[in-house]
Amino acid sequence: MQDHQPPLPAGSPTGEQLAAILRYTRRPFAPEELYVFPAVLCDNQIDRDGERFSTACLHQLAELFAGVTGVFDHRATASGQHARIFSCRVEEDPSRESNCPEPYAALRAEIYMPRTDATAALIAEIDAGIKKEVSVSCAVSGSVCSVCGQPAGSCAHQKGRLYDGPCPCHTVHTGAADAYEWSFVAVPAQRGAGVTKRLKRTAEVPPPPDEQLAALGREYLDRLRGEYVRLSLLAVPDLTESPVKKQAALLGPEELREALPALEKAAARRLPLPRQLPWQDPPDAPDRDPSENPYRLRRSPAQH
Ligand SMILES: [Zn+2]
Repeated sequence: MQDHQPPLPAGSPTGEQLAAILRYTRRPFAPEELYVFPAVLCDNQIDRDGERFSTACLHQLAELFAGVTGVFDHRATASGQHARIFSCRVEEDPSRESNCPEPYAALRAEIYMPRTDATAALIAEIDAGIKKEVSVSCAVSGSVCSVCGQPAGSCAHQKGRLYDGPCPCHTVHTGAADAYEWSFVAVPAQRGAGVTKRLKRTAEVPPPPDEQLAALGREYLDRLRGEYVRLSLLAVPDLTESPVKKQAALLGPEELREALPALEKAAARRLPLPRQLPWQDPPDAPDRDPSENPYRLRRSPAQH
């Protein structure tokens, strides 16, 4: 079959690429509507921070980064300036010099974006080689000392020092937990020329569970304090909000939980109150009798 279509613009996806991209789009796209470009996200080489991904970790990242969208210069909110990785794989290149015991390997992504007015300037910059540094943000599930294999930071080996072995002590990220985002970052002018896919990566350790718990605890405390203020103002309408808020801010969770039932009771004397927060019942709280307090909300027995 003859094809009389004008040639596709540079960077248009091949048929195979288009098929892979269409798994992520909500409607079919013609190849000329899309722009495709490759980028190396990270490699297995020791970086400036004395860290590197193991090749096995890169393989895990390849799976995690497939489908991840990226932003440009961290302008996540800039409308239309998004691109998505539609294919990601590890490419090994044993002929390339490696600064670590493993042969050189890199995580190579194929990325697409729609050709729109909003992306035209970016596409021109990528085509011109101006935008070519990518930084990735990911979580690793394991990091070890390259000398002894113990968890990073738990031994006395010092990064950058030579022990037994061909390369200085460094941290090896051995497992990937999550891929958050990738971003094009502006290349400093002096590095623009001659720098080919020289990449930077940022490994982020996932927030430890303690931190998440602390955040939840703070949120809970805020809700308790809000409830303290609300009930106080209902119970004693002559009070003004500001001093009550200051008072609430001084109380800890135990004191608040102790005060809230009494405040609720006092407020309920004035008007029916739905319970807004399922705080903990004291083990034997006589005023918790539903017959006495008809406004109490039931909690699920599954909590026990
Ligand atoms: Zn060590």
